[in-house]
Amino acid sequence: MKTDILIVGSGAAGLFAALHMPKRKNVVIITKNEAKESDSYLAQGGICMLRDEDDYEGYFHDTMNAGHFKNDETSVDIMIRSSQGIINELIEFGVNFEHHHGHLAFTKEGAHGKPRILFHEDQTGKEITRKLLRRVRERENITILEYTTMIDIIENEDNACEGVVVKNNDGSVTTITSKYTVLACGGVGGIYRNSTNFRHITADGIAIAMNHGIELRDMGCIQIHPTTLYSEKPGRRFLISESVRGEGAILLNKNRERFVDELLPRDVVANAIWREMDKDKTPYEWISFENIPEKKVRTHFPNIYRKCLEEGYDCLKEPVPIVPAQHYFMGGIKIGYTGHTSMKRLYAVGETACNGVHGENRLASNSLLESLVFAERAANEIAVHIDGVEISENAAFLVDYGKYNDLKKIEKENKEKVLEMIETLKNELIERREQEKKNG
Ligand SMILES: Cc1cc2nc3c(=O)[nH]c(=O)nc-3n(C[C@H](O)[C@H](O)[C@H](O)COP(=O)(O)OP(=O)(O)OC[C@H]3O[C@@H](n4cnc5c(N)ncnc54)[C@H](O)[C@@H]3O)c2cc1C
Repeated sequence: MKTDILIVGSGAAGLFAALHMPKRKNVVIITKNEAKESDSYLAQGGICMLRDEDDYEGYFHDTMNAGHFKNDETSVDIMIRSSQGIINELIEFGVNFEHHHGHLAFTKEGAHGKPRILFHEDQTGKEITRKLLRRVRERENITILEYTTMIDIIENEDNACEGVVVKNNDGSVTTITSKYTVLACGGVGGIYRNSTNFRHITADGIAIAMNHGIELRDMGCIQIHPTTLYSEKPGRRFLISESVRGEGAILLNKNRERFVDELLPRDVVANAIWREMDKDKTPYEWISFENIPEKKVRTHFPNIYRKCLEEGYDCLKEPVPIVPAQHYFMGGIKIGYTGHTSMKRLYAVGETACNGVHGENRLASNSLLESLVFAERAANEIAVHIDGVEISENAAFLVDYGKYNDLKKIEKENKEKVLEMIETLKNELIERREQEKKNG
């Protein structure tokens, strides 16, 4: 198969990139499972927006502060400055954000100095991806291929990307060649035992980038979410959104005492919970909704309320057990401000990519926004250059199919390789921080 532009992934980043590609060009989106099965779909809390010029400094500072001031300042500036335009586009695409007295309603999450997060109940990601997917399906130039998994990229002698090798739903291995390829294949949660992410989101783009010597960045920067619903069942961990704490929920230890300021950055709160679990010798601590009015729990957090009930906890009457779990990856394939990677004609956007916008720790609700901002910028840059590019007739012949005889082994090795790199660099980062603390 041949196409002008190939996008790997149907989360917010992939869909938004597709919608911004020129309508006269053929775009193919491949996605590992059903199109809606992305982490974007799971996003609960919301999406940030610069409310007005007076909020610029505060928003910039909160993002940098959460990121331990290791963020790329230009990326942060681009994201914040683009936010109002992105939100207007989402509204034009049909996304329905909560309103209050005829104006957009804003909520707050940890490490935000003021409310600047737009939301749709506690299912903002579902609302955004559903509407984007609907618009994508209306476009005649865009085709979505579900259950089609990228297993490699095709690299030519000139270090340019000529498309990807895919495993189809029937198990066959074929190629899709393209003028431009955009990796929008999400984070790394599926390689961790405890994660809020879909299990099939397994850092595939990052592993393939490693195999091809494509530059990576901030690979030790993994984010743990402080509050996921404690469960002994295997599988994805259910998130109890930070906006619950933003609206007043408190954390309690086994003696029902508070032990941390709940609105500190995520890494600080997660560390405090682990310390308390250690002291209490329990595999969880507790979150209490007692300070949130019942009406707000039912209207703003209906999904969380329902899920807790299903697991046997009525959060209107009792605290709910929580435990930190892997949630987000700040690092990834190194990109510039328009999503280009170190390989020609290969772009990366969304959680799989990294231009330093989050620094060492992401500020809550900045990731959907960042995914959309840099996806649009990547599409705009591709649109400028695509007419000068031809698909190589020989691209499919560059592929040695024999390499893919044992896909299970490749998948296992890829996961182990990425996990080892992240964990090694994460430990180095922790040591460096401790050293910095000691040095004052
Ligand atoms: C439970 C949860 C709650 C969250 N809440 C918020 C929030 O409130 N606000 C916020 O800003 N962020 C939130 N996030 C983070 C945010 O949702 C993600 O970081 C962001 O949506 C990433 O978007 P993406 O398009 O890069 O990746 P994803 O949305 O994860 O999409 C990745 C896509 O790539 C596909 N894919 C993966 N590998 C392959 C492959 N090899 N071949 C083909 N396709 C592949 C997947 O099937 C999927 O379609 C949350 C995340 C989770 C898990």
